Amino acid sequence: MNEMTFNGQTLLPETTVIDRCRSCQSDHLTDIQYFGETPLADKLVRHDQLAYPQYRAPLTLTQCTDCGLAQIRETVSPDILFGGDYPYYSSVSPALLRHFGRSAENLIAKRKLDRNSLVVEAASNDGYMLKVFADHGIPVLGIDPASGPAAVANANGIHTLNTFFTADLARQLADEGKQADLFLANNVLAHVPDLNGFVAGIATILKPDGQAVIEAPYLKDLVDHCEFDTIYHQHLCYFSLSSLIPLFERHGLHLNDVDHTDIHGGSLRLYISGGEGQSSTLRDMLAEERTCHITRPAYFTAFKDRLSTIKTDLHILLDGLKATHARIAGYGAAAKATTLLHYLDIEDGYLDCVLDRNENKQGWFMPGTALEIRHPDWLADNPPDYVMILAWNFANEIMKDQSRFAGQGGQFILPVPTPGIVNGPVQNKSL
Ligand SMILES: [Zn+2]
Repeated sequence: MNEMTFNGQTLLPETTVIDRCRSCQSDHLTDIQYFGETPLADKLVRHDQLAYPQYRAPLTLTQCTDCGLAQIRETVSPDILFGGDYPYYSSVSPALLRHFGRSAENLIAKRKLDRNSLVVEAASNDGYMLKVFADHGIPVLGIDPASGPAAVANANGIHTLNTFFTADLARQLADEGKQADLFLANNVLAHVPDLNGFVAGIATILKPDGQAVIEAPYLKDLVDHCEFDTIYHQHLCYFSLSSLIPLFERHGLHLNDVDHTDIHGGSLRLYISGGEGQSSTLRDMLAEERTCHITRPAYFTAFKDRLSTIKTDLHILLDGLKATHARIAGYGAAAKATTLLHYLDIEDGYLDCVLDRNENKQGWFMPGTALEIRHPDWLADNPPDYVMILAWNFANEIMKDQSRFAGQGGQFILPVPTPGIVNGPVQNKSL
């Protein structure tokens, strides 16, 4: 049942289950929510694979009651999750490009980076952020395990090692004299099975006065905005500031400052160095976390109730529309769309297909479903009555892009945070 192919080979993906905290190694884990056996969120399926059972793995959100880190119990091998034909190219999203472009320009000015500096990025993808530094003549080094994006980066002159960032790699680079003035890691810390090894690697690769700038989704936003669809096998950890501080300190690093950004539904941009000291922003946010008891399992009670209400309300809405024979297409074949379809139990019977403008995804099928991913032009040729926005954090951008569909009488459905039909820009902090 568990067969799947990877790089042309048939594999049994190895799913391991932790009984100790991924950060502090305590065995005091309290389970928060079991999400059932879910498809692997980013493993799009080819047409010829549809005839075979698709791989699913159990998914359990748990929390360490010692260091407070929220995490999932199951670890699917990263070779399977992120290697080979991982079909994600960051440069596709203009919003992400703007976000990281601005961040890079700020860091160049603030850190006074020049041609004698070195910027190293883990999970650098196709080099979209490093390119900003390279365009200023600053030496860069990318590290990414996905072969497609790494090849694109190298072809564009962004020197990129096609591998995972680990403590061993950091040691090897440092021994070669490659130490970083600035180390970047965007949306990767939550993916790393060996969390302590990764942070130890940061401590090794940084120059004594170097700085690491790490972006990761923020647990408080996940809970406040009910972003349950970002809980999936790629995301092993769900960080609060309170749970990050002991992780860094264990390796001689200190969290000094933080920006709270709106990207990916709400993220932390963490500034880390070997020097002590906390900004007032960081102290204020830590105080807020203490007030809402973010390190305790009871913190999740209202979140679980809300998830259950969304599921019920969305089914009432969709069943009502299907009773009138309405045709509905999904929009946005992101990884979170897989978990949204699965958790809300709408994998079958509601959608005709899923639209996405990423050409690398078109012609593939959503994991765990028989839903084909098609070019958004499909809307013009074969207009459905509704488009349900699965990538709901980009709802306004998608509605603007597809204004012609709305102009022809089509309507949009927003499944989260409150299921409903929307006809104009949505006001929501997480959008
Ligand atoms: Zn812990």
